[in-house]
Amino acid sequence: MEITELMIRYGELSTKGKNKKAFIKILNRNVRKKLAGYQNLKITYNHDRMHVKLNGEDSEEVIKELKEVSGIQSFSPIIRVEKSIEKAKKAVVQLIRNNYRPGMTFKINTRRADHSFEYDTNEMNRLLGSAVEEAIEDIHVKMKNPTATLRVEVRTRGIFISVDTIQGMGGLPIGSSGKGMLMLSGGIDSPVAGYLSLRRGMEIEAVHFHSPPYTSPQALKKAKDLTAKLSRFAGEITFIDVPFTEIQEQIKKVVPEYYSMTVTRRMMLRLTDEIRRKRNGAAIVNGESLGQVASQTLESMQAINEVTSTPVLRPLISMDKMDIISIAEQIDTFELAVQPFEDCCTIFAPANPKTRPKLKKVQAFESALDVSGLITRALEGIKIEQISKKTNENKKMEKVFAELL
Ligand code: ATP
Ligand code: MG
Repeated sequence: MEITELMIRYGELSTKGKNKKAFIKILNRNVRKKLAGYQNLKITYNHDRMHVKLNGEDSEEVIKELKEVSGIQSFSPIIRVEKSIEKAKKAVVQLIRNNYRPGMTFKINTRRADHSFEYDTNEMNRLLGSAVEEAIEDIHVKMKNPTATLRVEVRTRGIFISVDTIQGMGGLPIGSSGKGMLMLSGGIDSPVAGYLSLRRGMEIEAVHFHSPPYTSPQALKKAKDLTAKLSRFAGEITFIDVPFTEIQEQIKKVVPEYYSMTVTRRMMLRLTDEIRRKRNGAAIVNGESLGQVASQTLESMQAINEVTSTPVLRPLISMDKMDIISIAEQIDTFELAVQPFEDCCTIFAPANPKTRPKLKKVQAFESALDVSGLITRALEGIKIEQISKKTNENKKMEKVFAELL
């Protein structure tokens, strides 16, 4: 018994009218890129489905990869077994196991093209259904709106079984919505904001500010590791490391403490926007959520946002922290994000930042800074690197070897 192919559904893409063709092409390119390491696969597509024939490749691995491709609504593994009820039972149980969620329900939907087979459709439904209920705890047959529907087709060449409930990432294929610069800290929120932007089809580049020696190399590494986590969805992400020490020192020197946070954020936004302009991005993405901290009140956002007219996208703006955390867990960034390496903002954070900064005051305080000089020097010091899951793993291994030697 083996999974012979995966059938992919596009979901939202199907509603894209004229653009549909272009979107599907991008998705096809992304799927091929994601699965490039599996040489035996045969991938074909048409206007409403994509088929991945496995030709002996490991189905679980391929399924895991496909779950990380934006623009896939769902997909169904198809298993072909010999025409034997015992083999069919085994296959059905395995498929349900692969898709198992606590409390789930299912039904079996058999069709029989080969009427010479010894069981009719009702008998098949009943036999296969009880096999699943016996093998797996806490699962029940439900005729109306079950969590999973298993399709079983008895044909001359064998029995074909599929299930239609493996959820994909949803969203749109990356590359279909232009490019944005993600302001990536080492925190919980910004990687989630990055993920949600990727899921809307945006290509992202990560911009990270750090202030050595006040911030440690581990803080920088943490931001890179978070980028590597996001690269599972994006293939490869450009990571832009911006030196921020001089700016923070200057702000500390000349700006009253309760306005330093607002000015710091304005400098970050200016720099990100300048980098965006040079690299042809169309938007800026950050991890702000309304009311979460002092810099995330509407008054603060207004005072900070004043430095640019570029769209600043805030995918988390209306989300509760618990919901953000649950996505962070789902995309495996949470554990990394809570590691205690202070980033540049925490270290220079004033005790009592202004929650309702006045724009006039911000501008007045800021005029004591050489804004353009600071920006030019920071831009001269940026370091750019490509981060993918693989490069990151290789680096980890290099480190292990170096320590062994
Ligand atoms: P996060 O969990 O993303 O760090 P946060 O709740 O800690 O967010 P802030 O520290 O106020 O909130 O940061 C708000 C947003 O500003 C972040 O989500 C991120 O987009 C951006 N940001 C903050 N610090 C940095 C940094 N060092 N480099 C790049 N972007 C940053
Ligand atoms: Mg933070």
